[in-house]
Amino acid sequence: MIQRKPFTKTDIFILSAILLIAAAGYAFMNRAAGEGGLNALIYLDGELMETVSLDRDSAFSLETLPGVGFAVKDGAAAIVRSDCPDQLCVHMGWQRSPAGFSACLPNRVTLVIEEARSAEYQRIFTDLFDTTVVFRAAAKNPEEFDAYADAVSDELGRLHKLFDVYNDYDGLNNLKTVNAQAGVSAVEADAELLDLIELGIEAYEKSGGAVNIAMGACLSIWHDYREDGTAVPPAEALRQAALHTDIEDVIIDREAGTVFLRDPEMSLDAGALAKGFAVERAMERATEAGMEAGLINAGGNVRTAGTPSDDRDGWNVGIQSPELTGFDDGNLAGAVRVKDAAVVTSGDYQRFYTVDGIRYHHIIDPETLMPARRYSSVTVIHPDSGIADMLSTALFIMPIDRGKALLSEYGGEAMWIYPGGAAEMTANFGS
Ligand code: ADP
Ligand code: MG
Repeated sequence: MIQRKPFTKTDIFILSAILLIAAAGYAFMNRAAGEGGLNALIYLDGELMETVSLDRDSAFSLETLPGVGFAVKDGAAAIVRSDCPDQLCVHMGWQRSPAGFSACLPNRVTLVIEEARSAEYQRIFTDLFDTTVVFRAAAKNPEEFDAYADAVSDELGRLHKLFDVYNDYDGLNNLKTVNAQAGVSAVEADAELLDLIELGIEAYEKSGGAVNIAMGACLSIWHDYREDGTAVPPAEALRQAALHTDIEDVIIDREAGTVFLRDPEMSLDAGALAKGFAVERAMERATEAGMEAGLINAGGNVRTAGTPSDDRDGWNVGIQSPELTGFDDGNLAGAVRVKDAAVVTSGDYQRFYTVDGIRYHHIIDPETLMPARRYSSVTVIHPDSGIADMLSTALFIMPIDRGKALLSEYGGEAMWIYPGGAAEMTANFGS
């Protein structure tokens, strides 16, 4: 709708003339120059049709209004005739309004030009990583926010497909492809998939095997029984599956860009860290698109960047109380304020089913092949969301002393909540 073009010399001359005329009291409004850019808001019959950000110095016209041109310089705006731009359209004078300056134009259009102020916007995605993803960011206008939100959803969508173990996608080798080729052949894979698997192998080594992404054979049995919801998997079936979970059988060839599962019965499940890894990359994409402050919450896996548009010095992130079964029901075990960091929680309340009154959740202790029972939830704060996700699962499984030792290798803070509600946290958790 709007066509923008940089100023030419003639434009500058014309604008100078306009500024003089304005000083003489024509229909022209001037504003104190602010720091940021300007927004042009186009209303049709009072309804906002479009918001476009403008440089403080620009000239533009509306396609729907032939013959009318607009000029903005140093925060001042003028309506000019586009066929004869040195002539002001004095009959279309600017009105002052609290928001800025508005002009009622022909064709039921109103144009408002105002200082671009940062506001917080939000978008929710429901089709990614099997959870609800909430993205919030500060932006000067909806158009700018959309660019950030698109960057986040594109990246999460891309990685969701790459890390999917259930679905095939045309022309894409994903985790499902790697699993299907176990014992058969090495699979060419995108660098990010190799990065994720390498982080998984690192997690195995650092956690002493508590986190094992090669445990897909066991985890898929638990997954199927959880979906069915009536019984606990037979111990023998789990033990048989556990014979095919040796991380040494995951062979990455960086030069060839391939991954091969040597054991035909093996499968990878990157659920312990894939979401956090993807959120980290998505935040990088949003930052590259120009976002200065934002937050991604992917089902309890939160990554924040910068500080919100008000005066707070970081983002407040709530930590859900494990005592509740629903998600997002607002009952919090606490809240922390963080800046440029991830806050990731693993809990026994996130995915579970109940048999004979006992809760069977989705984080499996490789030693017992049963749901880990030490804590109700563990929350980790770390600058990198992928590391935080990996650590939250590891710490959920490990005894607290070993968990603390692991945490100190990576840096970061953690809080462990025991069944019953007692909590233990590291010295600087949330401060
Ligand atoms: P969520 O994905 O709910 O945020 P986690 O990050 O703690 O929670 O990851 C749990 C997921 O990790 C499970 O759904 C499963 O796919 C996988 N998983 C469970 N136990 C283990 C384990 N011991 N090692 C590696 N992955 C695991
Ligand atoms: Mg995790």
